[in-house]
Amino acid sequence: DNPHILSRKQKRSSEEIYNQACQFIPGGVSRNTLFHEPYPHYISHASGCYVTDIEGVQRLDFANNMAALIHGHAHPKIVDAVIEQIRKGTAYTLATEAEVLHAQLLCDRAPGFEKIRFVNSGTEAVMAVIKASRAYTGRAKIAKAEGAYHGTYDYAEVSQNANPTNWGDINHPNSVPLANGTPQGALNDVIVYPYNDIERTIAILDEHADEIACVLVDPVPHRVGLMPGKPEFIEAIYKWTRKNGALLAFDEVVTFRVSYAGAQQNYTVKPDLTALGKIIGGGFPVGAFAGRSDIMKVLDPRESKLLFPHSGTFSANPVSMTAGRVAMELFDEKAVLKLNALTQKAIVQIREAIQIADVPVSITGAGSMFRLHLKSKAPTTYREAYQNQEAKVLVNEMLDYLFYEEKIMMINTLACMFSTAMTQKEIDILSQAFLNMFKRFKP
Ligand code: PMP
Repeated sequence: DNPHILSRKQKRSSEEIYNQACQFIPGGVSRNTLFHEPYPHYISHASGCYVTDIEGVQRLDFANNMAALIHGHAHPKIVDAVIEQIRKGTAYTLATEAEVLHAQLLCDRAPGFEKIRFVNSGTEAVMAVIKASRAYTGRAKIAKAEGAYHGTYDYAEVSQNANPTNWGDINHPNSVPLANGTPQGALNDVIVYPYNDIERTIAILDEHADEIACVLVDPVPHRVGLMPGKPEFIEAIYKWTRKNGALLAFDEVVTFRVSYAGAQQNYTVKPDLTALGKIIGGGFPVGAFAGRSDIMKVLDPRESKLLFPHSGTFSANPVSMTAGRVAMELFDEKAVLKLNALTQKAIVQIREAIQIADVPVSITGAGSMFRLHLKSKAPTTYREAYQNQEAKVLVNEMLDYLFYEEKIMMINTLACMFSTAMTQKEIDILSQAFLNMFKRFKP
């Protein structure tokens, strides 16, 4: 008789479920994004690149669970492998071969991945990269890009919400706290640099030359503006780290999809450590961090002095490992090139739509992802890409239009993350929808 227990026979609307959710979950949601007013749409099922909500509305999905689904939904080979694993159990305290096979697959892909460890999320992966860097160097501070998103670890989220009222002088961007009550110590230990600005970044790093454990770099940082890091910029940071005894750490949680070996494949210099997540879990919770053997030794329990003790109840669980391995096997070099080519084709078509509608819209991105900006010149820095409140309102209206009228889902910055389930048909739908949207909203 408990009214809170869902009756399976009772068919309810998203609105009803949301009202119940609000009683138990703050704001009714567990993730603050992808929320379309007036309530979230609860999903019934999904297949390939289409998602169907419980009202029966089918939508074309360019969000792909925040960029995590490289093959779209319910790929039969992943589903079969996972079901087979689940029948045998899901987590055992002791290790499984699934973990070792996935480790080898990923290490074989990227030359800099000499050793790897698995965790359960991208947040954890970035956290572990920071802690491994500290353990290795014996230093406490990290440097990160203004506005960059690296998950929900205190240090990694500093400056994530930097805006004109608090971001400070560009020569010394503020260590802006994201959450109320962030320890001052955490803020003191995070040095913020302006992305793609070589001179200012090096000058800022120089001020802390012997204190920085690692410089954290996302090679195509979504919240900064989804613009690729300029090769000269990445190389300058690399050189600075060599000179000053710091590590170069890449956050490739999103960007590993960009090339066969991640976005790092596109640079002449290699990071010492890399955080991974999203697509390497094949649709299941995952994270990993990989890098130089001598650094990863800080995690080795056989060492007489264990510098970074690390564990996790569900780390390397065989379900995520199996799904991830099958997903990445399917995402081989040929599949990566094909998906990137399809995405570039979509960009060409969207550029045509921008021209036809004659709107000031530009596109940034890399590989199988891109983001639209409501300005005619593509931004290269965070402050250039920053959207004021007025622009944000317009973007939200556009997202709602796409969601309700065009039946298309995407990430809430007007970013699209492609999957191998997509074909020419889907990019035609997308570019037509953008054309309709540009004509209607005229940014
Ligand atoms: N780093 C980047 C660049 C991300 O985009 C994200 C997630 N969007 C994370 C880290 C955190 O990953 P997770 O949500 O799996 O904790």
